[in-house]
Amino acid sequence: MLPYGRQSISDEDVEAVAAILRGDWLTTGPTVTAFETAVSELAGGHRAVSCTSGTAALHMAYAGLRIGPGDEVVTTPMTFVATASCAAIMGAEIVFADVEEDTALLDPAAVEAVVTDRTKVIAAVDYAGHAADYDTLQAIADRAGAKTLGDAAHSVGGFYKGRPVGDLADVTTMSFFPTKNLTTGEGGAVVAKDPAVAQRVHEFHFIGLVRDPARFQITDEGPWHQEVHEFGVNYRLTDVACALGLSQLKRLAGFTKRRSEITARYNEAFEPVDGVRTPAQRDYVDPAWHLYPVRILGGRRREIFEGLRAAGIGVQVNYIPVYWHPVFANAGYKRGMCPNAEQYYREEISLPMYPDLTDADVDRVIETLTNLVS
Ligand SMILES: *Cc1c(COP(=O)(O)O)cnc(C)c1O
Repeated sequence: MLPYGRQSISDEDVEAVAAILRGDWLTTGPTVTAFETAVSELAGGHRAVSCTSGTAALHMAYAGLRIGPGDEVVTTPMTFVATASCAAIMGAEIVFADVEEDTALLDPAAVEAVVTDRTKVIAAVDYAGHAADYDTLQAIADRAGAKTLGDAAHSVGGFYKGRPVGDLADVTTMSFFPTKNLTTGEGGAVVAKDPAVAQRVHEFHFIGLVRDPARFQITDEGPWHQEVHEFGVNYRLTDVACALGLSQLKRLAGFTKRRSEITARYNEAFEPVDGVRTPAQRDYVDPAWHLYPVRILGGRRREIFEGLRAAGIGVQVNYIPVYWHPVFANAGYKRGMCPNAEQYYREEISLPMYPDLTDADVDRVIETLTNLVS
């Protein structure tokens, strides 16, 4: 079965990890710092904090923004559940705004319609690797006294109006799961423009430990002393994983290039085919295509999906609208709330997309899908 996504691991990646296993620091060592510096350089120079997953990154981001009961977080239903659930875990109320009909990205007009004086965060998702419209979302957030969060789990390595992902929202979260644009096994990162938010994010993922003597409230202990001002968790990424991440970062530009070649090959093949719709792209965005989301028209999505799977092509669907999950539905969120997202969901299939996919693999997917729809 051809998977829909998978990692690319080189001999250099393996060597980089082995070298750390033979060294002194398996965790909390210099490779964590080096990886965070490299992520920061990729992301506009803002401080980066590495962590154990993209979900952990979202939890840390909402903690760093001090989201809690009484706050509203406006987000998109066309995402993985964690974008919303991590804010719900903090006690915030989740408000879903619909997506644009063509890109499946959070629609600024829909956001504008639901923002209130309790809105604390507008959380966009760079669905499929295409950045959301951050300039417009930031202007809405600024007027509302809210912050922007970019869930960049799909878009690491991409650009918007010439600026890199990580330099677009107030806070950006990344995932380094094996199917994502680069991997550390499990892993993620938070990038924050405000150094005070970045410091809170760091302390939250590090058990809440305060280690700067200038901030101590207990001042008469000794050189061993560290203290806790706010509760935290342990979401630290290891030096072992960071070594893989550093090695993968060197390959990221090559991964992104291969992903756009695959996208172009699919686009060219499917544009003339009736009954399928290719992904939309804004001219001011350079996506880092994580998914190839093709749309199957005429109510035939399930039939085509099953046909592809039967032919050994491991397709996926991204995503069921988040508020359809029973955890939201049972809390009163109603189907029909975001019609564009629901229509998109009904039509979407994610085709195989990863750097080691060959042109012959792509052509097999193209031929199989074209035969199925005709
Ligand atoms: C993968 C993903 C996450 C979660 O990342 P994990 O590393 O799997 O925890 C969050 N948001 C989106 C949009 C994702 O695709």
